[in-house]
Amino acid sequence: MSNPLLDFSTLPRFDAIRPEHVTPAIRQLIDENRALIAELVADPAPPTWANFVTPMTEEGERLGRAWGIVGHLHSVMDVPEWREAYNAMLPEVSSFYAEVGQNLELFDKYRQLFGSAEYDMLTPARQRIIDHELRDFRLSGAELPDADKPRFKQIQEEMSALAAKFSENLLDATNAHAEWIEDASMLAGLPDDAIAAARAAAERDGKPGWKFTLQMPAYLPVMQYADNRELRARMYRAYATRASEQGRPELDNGPLIGKILALRAEEAKMLGYRDFAEVSLVAKMAESAGEVLGFLRELATKAKPFAERDLAELKEFARSELKLDPLEPWDVGYASEKLRQARYAFSDQEVKQYFPEPKVLEGLFGVIRTLYGVDIVADEAPKWDPSAHFFRIDKGGVTVGHFYLDLHARETKRGGAWMDSARSRYVGPRGTQTPVAYLVCNFPGPVGGKPATFTHDDVLTLFHECGHGLHHLLTRVDDLAVSGIHGVEWDAVELPSQFMENFCWEWDVLSGMTSHVDTGAQLPRALFDKMIAAKNFQSGMQTVRQLEFSMFDLRLHSEVDASGGPVPIERVMALLDEVRSEVAVMIPPAWHRFPHSFSHIFAGGYAAGYYSYKWAEVLSADAFEAFEEAGAGKGSLLDRETGERFWREILAVGGSRPALDSFKAFRGREPRVDALLRHNGMVSA
Ligand SMILES: [Zn+2]
Repeated sequence: MSNPLLDFSTLPRFDAIRPEHVTPAIRQLIDENRALIAELVADPAPPTWANFVTPMTEEGERLGRAWGIVGHLHSVMDVPEWREAYNAMLPEVSSFYAEVGQNLELFDKYRQLFGSAEYDMLTPARQRIIDHELRDFRLSGAELPDADKPRFKQIQEEMSALAAKFSENLLDATNAHAEWIEDASMLAGLPDDAIAAARAAAERDGKPGWKFTLQMPAYLPVMQYADNRELRARMYRAYATRASEQGRPELDNGPLIGKILALRAEEAKMLGYRDFAEVSLVAKMAESAGEVLGFLRELATKAKPFAERDLAELKEFARSELKLDPLEPWDVGYASEKLRQARYAFSDQEVKQYFPEPKVLEGLFGVIRTLYGVDIVADEAPKWDPSAHFFRIDKGGVTVGHFYLDLHARETKRGGAWMDSARSRYVGPRGTQTPVAYLVCNFPGPVGGKPATFTHDDVLTLFHECGHGLHHLLTRVDDLAVSGIHGVEWDAVELPSQFMENFCWEWDVLSGMTSHVDTGAQLPRALFDKMIAAKNFQSGMQTVRQLEFSMFDLRLHSEVDASGGPVPIERVMALLDEVRSEVAVMIPPAWHRFPHSFSHIFAGGYAAGYYSYKWAEVLSADAFEAFEEAGAGKGSLLDRETGERFWREILAVGGSRPALDSFKAFRGREPRVDALLRHNGMVSA
């Protein structure tokens, strides 16, 4: 066993795994899976959990784990060698999964098991796994006529290749542009650390002056702080038109969008659904596009007056105080930051000094320890980058799981923040396998010998991803297919993550994770009070923005006719205009190309599902209210008893039962929207 990708005895061997290991390892695992499936379907004995599901699960897990490592490395080390290794095997992997999904003999085995006497004796979790298998087989085209199958398979392969290309184009287009500045006066208004980072970036290229890239840690400070309007306008335009026809033609995502939509529509038709939104909703809590649109429109109706008020205030401030009239889109971030400073007398930069990375991590771990009575201990494991960390979670001396933490932005790392599974909890014939998670963010790294410091937004992001991580790691489910986040409805999967964000707005919790990077002082209470006062600053505008993305996504997949081949990008842009005229208050310029960088729906799993964020916010705000209620009675919101109940009813059960049942078991009733509206400050007095 010389190929480290095939070593499942331990944690991923990031110190040994090389791009050249990918093809032989993945091919071998696909072959082994094919051989096992052939053997199982040829077995004349009736399928049982032990003779059929268990071997299928274990063999499938090996491929899933190895390919997961490759996907992870492709995301955090997107250098040509890893990109090539990933892309080389992507079609074969997609093709294998499509083939399994359409294997009628396997489908038949599951149907036999479903109809057997054993089914009735299985735990609800195991019954649910079989139900999901049958559902997924149907969605993978298992019931299609033979003549249609090759085309269906081809669609799946084309869609995964297009999604990968979409991400790569976006990353390449992001890296393709940089603003070079040689005149120091252009830097007016920018914080020192942003200037230092820009200088360091120029130095790495062996050039004088300052280099501002379109990566978030460089782009955002310019949009918020650069006094130079020209610089903001140039950066805004470069960012807003990434991967569009306005840049390098080979990086244009426009044609890809049209093709992706056509393929999704064709897939939906083949499966007997009206459109792709119907397909997407099969495995979600929400019943129909109509129900979701109704939900979004209700929130839009309530939020839009607040958004209009926000914008009117901003325009008035920009006109009278900053002489910015009319207010242009590249002024919004800048004027908003100035308005926030004027009104609440603090800036993100000021707050940032209080959140050095080590202190924040200590605070985060403290919350988890208190709520759930677990220990989080630094541990050793091979890593892909020296700046990544590795931790172990213990409960009463027993290891519950592990997680990697990779916090800093790098040029070869995909943008954004995410949690992914390296390994899932599973109890099989050979014993217990504990879960392992990747937590990945793109925060600025240390500059000038000081620890990295985080904005409050960064801290929220960290708590968010950690919420996903805990959902994965604190599971008590023994069956792999519904342990952790597996099998959880898409629109409920953000419940534990958004739930965690709420703690970052509690003084008792937040103050404990602050220590000024220069003086060591705790966050002053007065500053925190201002942060709370500012919490709902422009919450109306932010809400309608999320609703705009959600509605655009849902209508794109339910109203745009893509049955006649690739959808012209003009049609996509026209729908976005329509959605904006309904919900948006700030309309971007005509040359803005938002869809071209909307990775969530074109390269991620959120197609006709972006609404899930808001949907889950209702659940998470309501769940957090249980801690507020406990805190009011017991003096601390970090209430162990409520924490244990949250663990038991929500985190521990994962996908082993419907999310609505879990919610009701925790809260004792159906979810209500009241807490979300209150948390967002959108309740009229
Ligand atoms: Zn999330």
